[in-house]
Amino acid sequence: MSVKKSVLIGFAAAILLIVAAFAGSAVPAYAAEVSAVPAGHIVCIDPGHQSRGDNTPEPNGPGSSVMKARVTGGTHGTTTGVYEYQLTLNVALQLQAELQKRGYTVVMTRTTHDVNISNMERAQAAAAAGAEITIRLHADGAGSPAASGATALAPSAANPYVSALAAPSQLLSQDILAGYCNATGMKNRGVQLSDTMTGINWCKMPVTILEMGFMTNPSDDVNMENPAYQASMVTGIANGVDLYFGK
Ligand SMILES: [Zn+2]
Repeated sequence: MSVKKSVLIGFAAAILLIVAAFAGSAVPAYAAEVSAVPAGHIVCIDPGHQSRGDNTPEPNGPGSSVMKARVTGGTHGTTTGVYEYQLTLNVALQLQAELQKRGYTVVMTRTTHDVNISNMERAQAAAAAGAEITIRLHADGAGSPAASGATALAPSAANPYVSALAAPSQLLSQDILAGYCNATGMKNRGVQLSDTMTGINWCKMPVTILEMGFMTNPSDDVNMENPAYQASMVTGIANGVDLYFGK
């Protein structure tokens, strides 16, 4: 048996253990999908939203009495008609392939639309799979069609749950946003601090939310559905990951 084959089998066993661990606990009977190429740093990609939102409440952070919807429905393209959950998974699957090509191990919180995974559960799945960073892919919506550009969200140093992750998350956000905007030409709206995101507050590793552009802006919306533009989005995010890990 080749070394490579035995590593793959060992890795498959590890995945089974993760699944078994989930199955044996009261917490979600759900495990993130880990790519079968064990190499390099482990990156979790969380494609925002899913085909249907779920307004059932869950705690906004560990021990929090503030409750928020498990997962919201997201926005949609006012010009293309594409839903945010479709765009985020489309880009996420391409990013998964690109990061694997660059030697990363990729954890996906979802690879289909028809799931029901809360923001808390997505963060827990990333931790259970040993992810070193989490990139949450989203797109923005605004009342005015004029709003455009990309934003990255990170926790502040005053976050009651993940203050220790604030500095590396802000660095990750800067790197991803810089790589993304350099490659795409998308307007850089900067890093915004947020302590109200359930998917950030439950995180156990540096995390960023990349709002890739405004689906309510005709130009951003059409660009983000263009395959060539999507290729530059993927290259840019992957460049940001390389930058973060000092490659
Ligand atoms: Zn979103």
